[in-house]
Amino acid sequence: MYRPHPFSWRPGDGARHATADERPGHGWPVGTRISTLCGTQVLSDESVEAWLWVTCPRCNVEAHKLAGIPMPGAGDEPR
Ligand SMILES: [Zn+2]
Repeated sequence: MYRPHPFSWRPGDGARHATADERPGHGWPVGTRISTLCGTQVLSDESVEAWLWVTCPRCNVEAHKLAGIPMPGAGDEPR
């Protein structure tokens, strides 16, 4: 399965996290324990509410690093 980046977004435990775990063809079943880029483990969720949870800030930073894209407004560039 084509993935543009070596990670996927997955909601779990109250936030949308990114994970580098191998993504099953149909996604992770609800309740699957996945390792997140922020260094914790969450139980996969896919309820409508779950996709509206706030993005985990630490996963967001790590995902940008993996994708090679600077964080907007990260302050790395001179203003
Ligand atoms: Zn996270």
